[in-house]
Amino acid sequence: MNLLDGKKTSETIQDEIAAEVAAIKEKGGKVPHLAAILVGNDGGSVTYVNNKVLACERIGFGSSLIRYEDTVTEEELLTKINELNNDNEVDGFIVQLPLPKHINTEKVIEAINPKKDVDGFHPTNVGRMVAGLPAYLPATPAGILQLLKRYEIETKGKHCVVVGRSNIVGTPMSILMSKCTYPGEATVTICHRNTVNLPFHTLQADILIVAVGKPGLITADMVKEGAVVIDVGTTRVPDATRKSGFRLRGDVDFENVAEKCSYITPVPGGVGPLTIAMLMTNTLRAAKKEVYG
Ligand code: NAP
Repeated sequence: MNLLDGKKTSETIQDEIAAEVAAIKEKGGKVPHLAAILVGNDGGSVTYVNNKVLACERIGFGSSLIRYEDTVTEEELLTKINELNNDNEVDGFIVQLPLPKHINTEKVIEAINPKKDVDGFHPTNVGRMVAGLPAYLPATPAGILQLLKRYEIETKGKHCVVVGRSNIVGTPMSILMSKCTYPGEATVTICHRNTVNLPFHTLQADILIVAVGKPGLITADMVKEGAVVIDVGTTRVPDATRKSGFRLRGDVDFENVAEKCSYITPVPGGVGPLTIAMLMTNTLRAAKKEVYG
């Protein structure tokens, strides 16, 4: 079994971006700038956004963090988005999800100029991805593609089974794996809550990608010998031995599944760290006007 080390891969990608930013600076070019809007004080969201800002600092991007109480109105948020759309200093920005219930998330996402939508959630970017046009790819599936690529894992003609069909992970992942580019060219099955006999499908997977949020859902008897297993799941479970009081668990029963795999991602340290690296990649692409010209 080989470990797919997301932490190391993420560091490598961020080092590559930092070198490119240094070169841009040396030539007197514009330094990429990422803005993030954070609503409320949810512990997970605060940590994610802080990590994104820290990553910007580390690699030499400019960054701004815009915070609102969870009482902010939809109108206030839309006004700020409009401001960022028109701010030439800001190359790309994100609105950290989830948003409070009184705010219409779809409306917020659609208000972002697709050219600055470095999360890749705007329907224009989703549509362009499906059509195979240049687009900002959502960070988590893009990170998984990077892992497959950098570990030189063969995907052509393989059977890829994706468990979970969310808009941010499962669905784009299934589309990208079926595309005629590398990594891709796979035959894809997508499973969800209403899939009958989940083990029947997972057992056929040469590449199994799981994004559900149910710790330990995938057990060893559900995995084919020699499969590549990518575990996106990150669920906080109580752990009194930790200072934080919790630890992260994946959707895959790592200890028992690892013995059967050719490659597997750990949780934490697998897919998670790549998400930030891919957000930085999208921001660099935005600054270089690579996607929309
Ligand atoms: P989500 O929106 O809750 O979607 C979960 C998906 O799993 C849904 O499509 C659901 O099916 C499916 N599902 C639920 N129970 C199932 C079952 N028993 N069998 C088969 N499918 C089942 O979740 P998400 O946003 O994609 O996130 C999934 C996990 O990945 C979470 O743990 C999240 O924290 C993690 N995540 C990690 C990263 C990262 O590491 N960077 C990024 C994003 C997400 P239905 O559609 O039928 O309801």
